[in-house]
Formats: sequence, C-alpha cells, structure tokens
Amino acid sequence: MSLAGLGEFGLIARIRQAVSDPADLPLGIGDDCAAALVPAGELLLTTTDLLIEGVHFRRDWTTVRDLGRKSVAVNISDIAAMGGTPRQIFLGVGLPADFPLTEIEGFLDGVLEAAGEYGAALAGGDTCRSPGPLFISVTAQGSVPPQELLTRGGARPGDAIYVSGTLGDSALALRQLQAGTLPQSALARRHHDPQARVTLGRQLAAGHLASAMIDLSDGLLGDLGHILTASGVGARLFPDSLPLSEPLRWVLPELLAQQELALTGGEDYELLFTVPPAQQGGLAALASAGLPLTRIGEIVSEPGLKLLAADGSLLPLPSGSFKHFGSADR
Ligand SMILES: [Mg+2]
Repeated sequence: MSLAGLGEFGLIARIRQAVSDPADLPLGIGDDCAAALVPAGELLLTTTDLLIEGVHFRRDWTTVRDLGRKSVAVNISDIAAMGGTPRQIFLGVGLPADFPLTEIEGFLDGVLEAAGEYGAALAGGDTCRSPGPLFISVTAQGSVPPQELLTRGGARPGDAIYVSGTLGDSALALRQLQAGTLPQSALARRHHDPQARVTLGRQLAAGHLASAMIDLSDGLLGDLGHILTASGVGARLFPDSLPLSEPLRWVLPELLAQQELALTGGEDYELLFTVPPAQQGGLAALASAGLPLTRIGEIVSEPGLKLLAADGSLLPLPSGSFKHFGSADR
C-alpha cells in the first residue's frame, strides 16, 4: 500500500496511535494546534530545518529509518547548541505518491525512535503529496532558563575555543558515497545517524562553562565564522590540534587532506564553544566524562581568522572557506 491507498487521515491516525503525550504536552497531535507547557520562567526555543531529496539526502544512500533519525537529530542539535532541553518536535512531510507505506512506517519509526532518545515528543505536523521529491521539514522546540541561554554572540578575547568529538567523519563518508565507494561503517554512521550533543550542551549551559556556542552543520570554519561575526571578535586556530578519528586517519593518511576536511567538511553536529579562562578548570572535569573535548584555538580581539602551525607560523586558509571572514582576510 502507498500513501495514495492509505490517505492522509489514515496516515495521521497511524502516527497518533504510535505516540503518547508526556505531562508537559496536555494536547498533542489531533487538534488545530498542539498545546504545551514550558517550565516556569524558562525561554521557549524553536528551530526548523528543511530536507529535500536530491539536495540534502539521497534515498539510495540511506535507509528511511536513518533518514527519520537524522531529520530529528539535526534539529535537536540546534536546541543543544543553545544549551536547551528538547521538548517537542513537529514533522512536515511531502511524500511522493508512489512512496511505499512500509517506507513511510520505517521513516516514522526512525523519527519516533530518535525523538524518544532525546526526550522530545512528536506533537504535530502535516503531510501532503509531493509531485516530485520527498520533502521533510522538522521543527523542534526546547526550553532553557534565561540565565543559561548560550548564543553565538558571547565570545571574548582570551577565551579558548573547544570542539566536542571528532571532525570530518561525516564529510568523508559523503565524499566516498559521491565517489561510488562504500564508506567504512563508523564513518557512515557519523553521516547517516549523527548524534545531537544534548547532554554536553546542557552541562555547559547549566555550569556556565561556555561563553558562546554553535553546532557544526556547515563546517568548522564557516560555523566558527558565525561566532566571530556575532561576537565581534577574531580567532587563531591550531590545525595540528584538530580532533580526528582513527577511521578518518586510515582512509585519508595525508595530514593536510585530514585537516582540510576537518576545517571545511559539514554535518559533524558536534558542539563548537568558547570557554573563558576562569571556567577551564570546570571544563576539565566534563572532558573526562566520555565525549572528548579538544582545545583547538583561542579568541582574539583582532577581527578575522588565522591558522597557526605548531611552530607559530601562519598557514593558508583552505580555498572556499573565505566567505564568512570578509575581504580583509583574503
Ligand atoms: Mg545550528
């Protein structure tokens, strides 16, 4: 059976059956709006992302279950980047008429599974037929106490720049898929099933350990550029200290190629954050708790971004990474 056979209301009824509403969601799927409680005094965070088949994903490279999981994770990652706790997600899908029902169910399983892992409830959405590709739009909501909100604008000269996890794995998997090579499974997982760093984001926010934060979706240089612009500061990065995974080093033995990918590759969904000098002791305790946290540079008052080798010499920025840094840095 396809969507044409089941019909939109049949699909919504199936989704409704699969979902149970938590206490902070008195009214979920099924009315004109969802009605949710925000914890007293907290700010409501809202973020949305659009994923289009052929632009953001290819159905022959991923399973529909992973596609559902990733659609949730990339949105929850934005909640994590603000220091928030995920609360609800809303799902809009434009489904090709011949999209098989088993595929729709697999996709929904992935959405619900990932939402459950992050403690978010599917609270509403919309479905319609697409005359062409599969469209997926996820909106995520979360909450954060106002004094714990982390933005891109709080970095100050003297702060250290940190990143979680390892960089470049997802981009390497994508590059291999584009070249017709099957990526090694650990790299493929990083691309098809990224993990939003919600626990780390909350720890940094609640502990007042970070001054600015962003999640890495477009690549380290571009996303760091957003922090620098929003904060009105510059940065020095140390490419030799970029955290790289074993599989990446194995597939890509040349150091410059590793660093180029770590600096420019997208879809890491790690957290990039700045830490004031006084908070670096508190961060050390977090870093020993599992996910590696690596110091990769420092914030300076002079605008622009410089890459520095271990001996202090200046390295060229990879081509294609200039757009966020203005003409003065070329
Ligand atoms: Mg983001």
